[in-house]
This record gives sequence, C-alpha cells and structure tokens, in this order.
Amino acid sequence: MILAYIGMGANLGDARGTLLTAARELSALPGVASLVLSRFYRSAPVDSSGPDYVNAVAAIQTSLDAHALLDRLQAVENRHGRLRPYRNAPRTLDLDLLLYGTQAIADTRLTVPHPRMHLRAFVLRPLADLAPDMQLPQGGLPQLIEACADQALQVLPD
Ligand code: ATP
Ligand code: CA
Ligand code: CA
Repeated sequence: MILAYIGMGANLGDARGTLLTAARELSALPGVASLVLSRFYRSAPVDSSGPDYVNAVAAIQTSLDAHALLDRLQAVENRHGRLRPYRNAPRTLDLDLLLYGTQAIADTRLTVPHPRMHLRAFVLRPLADLAPDMQLPQGGLPQLIEACADQALQVLPD
C-alpha cells in the first residue's frame, strides 16, 4: 500500500457538498483502503475568477499505481460535471494527485509531487492538518505556508 495525498477543490455549485461526496467516492474505490480528510478551507480564486473556492486534502492508502489513481480521480471529476473550457476556469471539482508515497513521476500525463503545491496555501494548510511535520523537497510546511501569496484562507467550521 502507498500513502497518497489528493488535493481537492471546487468553486461551482455546492462546493463543500461536492468535496464530501467526492471523498466518499474516493474511499469506496477498489484499491483504496482508507481515507482521512483535512478540514475545509475557503479562499478567493488564485489566477482565476468566479466564486470562492472550498479546498481540502485527503490522505489515502492505495494499491492503485499512480496513473490508475489519476484515471480514477479524473473519472470522479467527470462524474461531477468537470469541464475545462480554459486554463484555471471555475470548476465543480478538481482532484490533484499531490504526492504518491515518496515517488517522483514526470511524464506527459502526470507530475508528482504536484509541481505547484509548494506555492499554494490552499493546498499546504489542509495538508498540514494531516501531516504537520511533512517535508517537501522545497522545505517544511509552516515555512512554505508563510511564503505563499494566498494567505487569506478561512477554516470552515465543521
Ligand atoms: P493545476 O495543475 O495548476 O492545479 P488544474 O488542476 O486546473 O491546474 P487540470 O485542468 O485539472 O489543471 O489538469 C490538467 C492536466 O494536468 C491533466 O489532464 C493531467 O493529465 C495533468 N496532471 C499532471 N500532473 C498531475 C497531478 N499530479 N495531478 C493531477 N493532474 C495532473
Ligand atoms: Ca488543481
Ligand atoms: Ca487538476
């Protein structure tokens, strides 16, 4: 089993409800053994437009290989009506594979660790809920969070 982290985001429709449903769907996938969800965060769009985002991170134990996992993530996105009209467009659901064990992957479909995760407080803060002592290639989470441009993140109440 591999410990993988999934970045989750949505800013169209019932964003929080979609993330909760998507987390349930991920945990029910064949080859996914457990899922732990961070708190939910609200943030203004970065390099984007539209309503505020709701973001979270899920930690899963999985026997799927990284590309099969990406296939499943994209299938869940599609089921929730994800469209890609242009780069950084508002979306019903975005599921990014942030980390897949300690593996580094770089091919035409998949780059892991996710190449922009260390710059995004909306990824790092929920990730720190689950793994506060995690070290990324660029540094520890508190130090990376402090350096992020997107600081105005609000924790949503349970
Ligand atoms: P960003 O990657 O900056 O967060 P985005 O999530 O809006 O942007 P998408 O349109 O969802 O980008 O994805 C574009 C492509 O990125 C996908 O088709 C997928 O093949 C590729 N991709 C590369 N690495 C990853 C990864 N680690 N997780 C998810 N998709 C990835
Ligand atoms: Ca993304
Ligand atoms: Ca994505």
